[in-house]
Amino acid sequence: MKIQCRFCNQKFKTDDQVVLNEINTILHLDCPDPSNFKYIDEGSFQEIILRNPYFGDFVTKQ
Ligand SMILES: [Zn+2]
Repeated sequence: MKIQCRFCNQKFKTDDQVVLNEINTILHLDCPDPSNFKYIDEGSFQEIILRNPYFGDFVTKQ
């Protein structure tokens, strides 16, 4: 499972600053976000995936 930013199409690096929105989409903090979903978490990409069990599969494959 690859996670990439749907707005700039770049793969996330562990120290990228990102936000997680309420539909479990991760995007860069700096990327323009045309959707109006609420942000439920914010931090480095690594912090976000470690904090959110939803992304567990991704973590174990790294
Ligand atoms: Zn991006």
